[in-house]
Amino acid sequence: MEGVLNSQRSEVSIVGAGPAGLSTALFLAKKGIRSTIIDKETFPRDKICGDGLSGWVVTMLRRIDPALLGKLQSLPAQLPSYGVRFFAPNMKSFALPYRNAKFPNDPPGHLIRRIDFDQVLMEAAQENPLIEVILGVTIDHIDHSGDQVFMTSTGNQLWTSDFCVIATGAGSKLARSVVPHKKEHKHQATGIRQYYANVTGVHEGNFVDFYFLKEFLPGYLWVFPLPDGTANVGAGIRTDILKKRKLTLKQVTEKALIENPHLAERFKDARPISAVSAWSLPLGSRKVPLSANRVLLTGDAASLIDPFTGEGVGNAMWSGFAASEHISKAFEINRFDSDFNKKYDKFVYNKLWKELRLSTWIQRLINYPKLFNWVMNKVTANPELQQSLIRMIDDLDERKKLTKISFYVKLLGRSRG
Ligand SMILES: Cc1cc2nc3c(=O)[nH]c(=O)nc-3n(C[C@H](O)[C@H](O)[C@H](O)COP(=O)(O)OP(=O)(O)OC[C@H]3O[C@@H](n4cnc5c(N)ncnc54)[C@H](O)[C@@H]3O)c2cc1C
Repeated sequence: MEGVLNSQRSEVSIVGAGPAGLSTALFLAKKGIRSTIIDKETFPRDKICGDGLSGWVVTMLRRIDPALLGKLQSLPAQLPSYGVRFFAPNMKSFALPYRNAKFPNDPPGHLIRRIDFDQVLMEAAQENPLIEVILGVTIDHIDHSGDQVFMTSTGNQLWTSDFCVIATGAGSKLARSVVPHKKEHKHQATGIRQYYANVTGVHEGNFVDFYFLKEFLPGYLWVFPLPDGTANVGAGIRTDILKKRKLTLKQVTEKALIENPHLAERFKDARPISAVSAWSLPLGSRKVPLSANRVLLTGDAASLIDPFTGEGVGNAMWSGFAASEHISKAFEINRFDSDFNKKYDKFVYNKLWKELRLSTWIQRLINYPKLFNWVMNKVTANPELQQSLIRMIDDLDERKKLTKISFYVKLLGRSRG
C-alpha cells in the first residue's frame, strides 16, 4: 500500500480497548487465538459512565478468569453494591436487594470509576502473551472487502488481519462506515456525569439510587456511591425527547439538587469535584446489523445498552464473548464471509433481544407519572410484591409479568383487598 510507514499482521485485530474490545481479546486468548488490540487513547483512560457494574459484569469477569474478579473485589477503588433503590415522582421509594444465589459470598455488583475498572481489564490484556496492545493510535479506515482486513491509522500505519472486531463505542463513525446503520435519536440516550464529595443518605448496602422526577420522565437522575464519601451523579434521557423539550441536562440536575427536598437534604454539604461531562448511549431498542465480511461489531458500537437502566458494560463484555465464540468457529471452518457472519447477529439477538425489548417496554411505561406513582404506592405498601420485584431482577420470565395486564389487575385487587 502506498505511503504506508510499516505493516503488521495478526489473526484478529480489535479496534477499541473498552470493556467490549478487551473482553473480546481476553476471551479469544482463552481459545488460543492471538489478537492485536488498538485504542486511540493511552491508559488509564476515563470514560463517561455511571460507574455501576451489575451482576452480569461479575459473571463475565468470572468467566474470563475468577482471579480477575478477585482482583476487582480487592481494589480499594471499588465499593461492593448490594441493590438498587427507586424513587418515584411522589418520592415514595423502595429498595430491591440484588440476589446472588449461586455465589452468596461474592458481592452481587460493584461501583468503581471506569478509569479504574477498564485498567483492570487492560492490565489483564497486557499480561497475556496472546494479546498485543497498541495505544495512542487512531484507526481511521478499514478495508474488509477482500480476503484480508486492512486497517490504516491516522499516522499511516497498516495492520492486516483475517478478522476485525470493531469495539469503538458510542457514536462511532468508523463502525457505521463498515457496517452501515442509521443513527436515530429515539434509539439513543444522552447522559451527563459529575463526581461529588460529601453526599449523604447512602444506603448501608451501597445501593444505587434512581430518581424519577415528574418533569423529567422518562429520564431519570442517579446517585451512585463511590469510595471515600464521593458519588457519581448524573442524568439521562432519550435524545429525541431531550431535543424536543429543549432540556439542558446540567440545568435539570442542578435544579433538582436544590429544589427537590429529598435530594436537597442529601446534597446540602456536597460539592462537585469534577466538571460535568456528557456522552451518548446507543440503546438496544432496535436491531441493527452487527457484521459484514470479516468484521463484527461489539459493545456500544453494536447498540447493546439496556434501554431502561442504561447499563452497557455487561452486554459489551458478553458481546466480546459472543464474538470470540463466532471467530473461533470461523477459523475452524475457514469462513469469514458476510453470510457466515450473520450467525453472529443471530446469536447475539437470540440471547439479548427478549430482555432488551422488555426494557424498552418498561422505559415507555415510566413515561406516565400517574401510573408510575400508582405502581410505586402499591409496591411500597406490599412486601409480597416487593419480593416479586426482587425475583424480577434476575429472572426474565418473572419480569415479563410487567408487560401483562393481569399484573396490574392483581395490583388493583390488592389495593381493594
Ligand atoms: C452517562 C453514561 C452513564 C452510563 N452508566 C452506566 C452504568 O452505570 N453501568 C453500565 O453498565 N453502563 C453505563 N453506561 C454505558 C457504558 O458506559 C457503555 O455501554 C460501555 O462503556 C460500552 O463499552 P465499549 O467497550 O463498547 O465502549 P467504550 O467503553 O466507549 O470503549 C470504546 C473505546 O474505543 C476507542 N476508540 C474509539 N474510536 C477509535 C478509533 N477510531 N481508533 C482507535 N480506538 C478508538 C475509545 O478510545 C474507547 O477506549 C453509561 C453510559 C453513559 C454515557
